[in-house]
Amino acid sequence: MTASYLAVLECPRCGTRYDADQPRNLCTCGSPLLARYDLAAARGALDPATIATRAADLWRYRELLPVRDAAHIATLGEGWTPLLPAARYGARIGVPRLLVKDEGLVPTGSFKARGAAVGVSRARELGIQHVAMPTNGNAGAAWALYAARAGLRATVAMPAAAPAITRKECAVAGAELHIVDGLIGDAGRLIAGLVGDKVFDVSTLKEPYRLEGKKTMGYEIVEQLGWRVPDVILYPTGGGVGLIGIHKALGELRELGWIGDKLPRLVAVQSTGCAPIVAAFTAGARRAEPWPDAHTVAFGITVPAPLGDELILDALYATGGTAIAVDDTDLLADLRAFGADEGLWLCPEGAACLTAARALRASGWLGEDEEVVVLNTGTGLKYPDSVEE
Ligand SMILES: *Cc1c(COP(=O)(O)O)cnc(C)c1O
Ligand SMILES: [Zn+2]
Repeated sequence: MTASYLAVLECPRCGTRYDADQPRNLCTCGSPLLARYDLAAARGALDPATIATRAADLWRYRELLPVRDAAHIATLGEGWTPLLPAARYGARIGVPRLLVKDEGLVPTGSFKARGAAVGVSRARELGIQHVAMPTNGNAGAAWALYAARAGLRATVAMPAAAPAITRKECAVAGAELHIVDGLIGDAGRLIAGLVGDKVFDVSTLKEPYRLEGKKTMGYEIVEQLGWRVPDVILYPTGGGVGLIGIHKALGELRELGWIGDKLPRLVAVQSTGCAPIVAAFTAGARRAEPWPDAHTVAFGITVPAPLGDELILDALYATGGTAIAVDDTDLLADLRAFGADEGLWLCPEGAACLTAARALRASGWLGEDEEVVVLNTGTGLKYPDSVEE
């Protein structure tokens, strides 16, 4: 047994609670559900020193993850990615204490592996045999590969414009792949027609456990800093699962008493070609409006109507954070400058966070002495066309 302290599924909108040991999608009110743990019991049984002795993967936090029996864990060695100082590039943009959490090193080439490892493992534990999802590429690739690892079937639908390598990842995993002429919402409509008793819907935030995998980025940042929080975290926001997950993780660590009350300001970085969260944040709204004609080279953040809009905006408002949109031309220039300064080929989504950091420093929102963590959510090698020779 992993001794998970998973207690219940809870709706953050209406408060309804559900048995966590039955497969669930959304709350009856339409909101995503959140996994809640018995943190009071966990506090008595677990401490940072114990975690420090464990293997360098995300399962080091197993008591705070939903899988009850370790026999169900499907792993390819995901998690515990480096938190790299980027002082040379940081100095160039006036943020010398810049750090990059490099998710390019996880299996499948993007941080989607975290959500897939935990989501697929928990699905298997709950007796699910076939999962289906729409994707902008990386999530489908990760779920297809982890489903194969776990012995589950996977059906994936993705836009024709998604990175070609992600189609091949689905193919090598033996998944059933549908290519859609349109955006992720169109892929979602196709999947909605396929799910039912035998096929479980694992669309973004339509099941509660992908979020649990992604929250481990928040635990890791804190542990890697010596159980301390940075001043600011910038996150390239599409569906927002990583941002919501990091916010959830920080709240759990605070409740455990492992960090103080002050949380980092969380920043949602989007593209000027698809910025529904930025528009909502700027208007002070609680919900986002769908973004028309979405388009950006940062394909992973092309999500015109995120289901988790309320939770994303909550995370920004609650931490004194902000939301900012950047241009493709700028982010591609920053991707290149960063590669030459630091030797790391970022994904376009990660590079968008650098452009955002530069702009926020120029406007004074970021101070010169602040410690700033940027999430590089995938490897640049998955996007060979982001750089010309
Ligand atoms: C999916 C994805 C994102 C956006 O992640 P969300 O948690 O859905 O906001 C960012 N970058 C990359 C590379 C992605 O694949
Ligand atoms: Zn509800």
